[in-house]
Amino acid sequence: MLVTGGNRGIGLAIARAFAAEGDRVAVTHRGSGAPDGLFGVECDVTSAEQVEAAFATVEAELGPVEVLVANAGITDDSLLLRMSEESFDRVVDANLAGAYRVAKRATQKMLRARRGRLIFVSSVVALVGSPGQANYAASKAGLIGLARSIAREIGSRGITANVIAPGFIETDMTAAMTDARRAEVLAGIPLQRYGAADEVAAAAVYLASDAAGYVTGAVLPIDGGVGMGL
Ligand code: NDP
Repeated sequence: MLVTGGNRGIGLAIARAFAAEGDRVAVTHRGSGAPDGLFGVECDVTSAEQVEAAFATVEAELGPVEVLVANAGITDDSLLLRMSEESFDRVVDANLAGAYRVAKRATQKMLRARRGRLIFVSSVVALVGSPGQANYAASKAGLIGLARSIAREIGSRGITANVIAPGFIETDMTAAMTDARRAEVLAGIPLQRYGAADEVAAAAVYLASDAAGYVTGAVLPIDGGVGMGL
């Protein structure tokens, strides 16, 4: 299995959870090197060439990618009126087009094998929106349409495509938020705590498991209840 952005944060927790299940796990990184005990391949998902090269390396070393977790993502927050075209494009290119690139490459082999699992890491903000994150929320909402279209296109070939929508998870990404914003967010979480990366990883393991064989096109919230009802 392959996790993009699996060198740290949620992606690393996902990679470690699959490794603990005994799976052969590869992660992409952008120069940090592979985390201890995991197979790493350098790849920026904004480059189709790097995506191709990364898959070729992973296939040569570990075999075909049967489970893909498209996790790599960035934020670049600002209010709409101040948001540049460059910022909007950059976030959509990394978060949405990046997922398209890796999913397209992964499904080539999955179609031949007539099985495979695609898991896209979206966000609760895809559903509820977030002030200052129009670029990010748009990219994350796009993943839902992407996954559901793929689910319809190739479900007949034994391939599922699902989305995980995490809420606020303790990682570098949320550590960058101001204390005031963190307090505001916490007040809106029914479970009254932030989530842990391991809790997102458990959802990915489930979606890749035989137990989830009849689950496709789903959006699975791991958000402490923030997005419930949407
Ligand atoms: P981090 O900022 O901790 O990690 C982001 C990961 O994405 C890093 O591994 C980073 O690589 C990688 N990445 C970013 N851009 C690219 C790119 N162009 N090509 C390849 N890899 C890239 O974030 P989190 O672990 O918190 O987030 C992981 C995913 O979960 C993201 O998609 C995020 O949007 C989503 N998410 C996070 C939430 C949270 O509360 N933390 C909530 C909801 C969703 P590098 O180390 O090289 O920078």
